[in-house]
Amino acid sequence: MIAFNVPPYTGKEIKYIEEAVANHKICGDGAFTKKCNEWIEQKTGTPKALLTTSCTHATELAAILADIQPGDEVIMPSYTFVSTADAFVLRGATVVFVDIRPDTMNIDENLIEAAITDKTRAIVPVHYAGVSCEMDKIMEIAKKYNLCVIEDAAQGIMSTYKGKALGTIGDYGCFSFHETKNFSMGEGGAILIQKEDKIEEAEIIREKGTNRAKFFRGQIDKYTWVEKGSSYLPSDMNAAYLYAQLELAEEITADRMATWNMYHEAFEELEQKGLVERPFIPEHCTHNAHMYYLKCKDLEERSSLISYLKENDILAVFHYIPLHSAPAGAKYSRFHGEDKFTTAESERLVRLPLYYGLKKEEVEYIIGKVKEFYLK
Ligand SMILES: *Cc1c(COP(=O)(O)O)cnc(C)c1O
Repeated sequence: MIAFNVPPYTGKEIKYIEEAVANHKICGDGAFTKKCNEWIEQKTGTPKALLTTSCTHATELAAILADIQPGDEVIMPSYTFVSTADAFVLRGATVVFVDIRPDTMNIDENLIEAAITDKTRAIVPVHYAGVSCEMDKIMEIAKKYNLCVIEDAAQGIMSTYKGKALGTIGDYGCFSFHETKNFSMGEGGAILIQKEDKIEEAEIIREKGTNRAKFFRGQIDKYTWVEKGSSYLPSDMNAAYLYAQLELAEEITADRMATWNMYHEAFEELEQKGLVERPFIPEHCTHNAHMYYLKCKDLEERSSLISYLKENDILAVFHYIPLHSAPAGAKYSRFHGEDKFTTAESERLVRLPLYYGLKKEEVEYIIGKVKEFYLK
C-alpha cells in the first residue's frame, strides 16, 4: 500500500533528541527551541518567531494578541481546517465566511470588503496548499478598515508572495509542524510576529502570563505573573526533532518538488483532454510542494477515482468539508454572499500521496493508475 503521508524523518532526529535529554532540557525554550526560532527568523525575515505546541495554538495566541472579544467578527474562507475558525470562536467571535477562488482554492480577495461590518476585527487568509492568497489586496482592505491580518500559513513554510515569505505579510503568521506538514515535530507550530511592540506580550501569553522570557534573558531578577496567558510552548525534545528537518529544509523541499513536478507534467495530458484540472500557481507566487491535488468532474467521479486507487494499493484522500456546513458552523458562523465555489470545488478535489522520500517508481505507478482510470 502506498501511504498518503509518511511523517518526514531525515536520520538526525534521534541524535538531537538524545542531546536534549542529555542536556536535561526536556521542557520548553531549550537550545533546540531557540535554534528553531532563529532558523525561522532568518529564513523568513520575520522579526520574531516562537515555536508553539501547534498551529492551532499559534492562531489562538494571535487571536489573544489581536484582542478579539465576544461579538467581534472575523472573516475567513469556509474551505479550511477547523483550527482556523476554532481559535476565534474560543474568544467568542463570530466567524464570517466568504467564498473562495476556484483557481487557487484561496479566499476570494474581491469578496472580503462587502463582508465587513462595524463588528469586523480581523481577516484570516489561509494559504491553501502553500500557495499564497492575494495579499496586496487583503492588506489594502485591512489598512482601509483598520483590521488585523492573521495568516494561516500552516501549509505555507518556504513559500513566497512577491518575494515575501508567507506568514510575514500580515500582523501575525501561523505555521504548523504537524506530522502531515512539510517539516514536523509530531505536533507543533510557530507564531511569526511582525510588530516589535507585540513581541513581549506574545512571550508573556505563551508562558502562562509570566515574564519568564525576560528573566531567562537576565533582564529581571525573578519572574512573576503579569498578564492573562496560557501554555503554548513545546518540549525541547519535539523541537530537537524539528531542528533536524529545518537543517535539511532545502533538500526536503527539493524532494517534494520533484514529486510535485512529476505529477504536474504527467497530468497535463488529462487536463488538455478536459478530464481533470490541475493546481494553479500564480506567477508572483512560489510554492513549497506541500500538496498535489487534482479536480475531478464531480463528487461521484472523485469517489470512483479514490476507490480505484485504493483497489490498486494507493491511498488518496479528500478534505475539507466546508466549515459552514459542519454542525459547529451552524452555531458559530455565517456565510456572507453566495457559496458559488466553496462546496462545489471542495467536492471534486482529491489529494495524491506526497511526502519526503516517496520513491520515483511509486510516483510513476500512481500516475499510471490515475491515467488508467481516465483513459482506459
Ligand atoms: C494543519 C493545519 C492547521 C492546524 O495545524 P496544527 O498544527 O495541527 O494545529 C491549521 N490550518 C491549516 C490550513 C492546516 O492545514
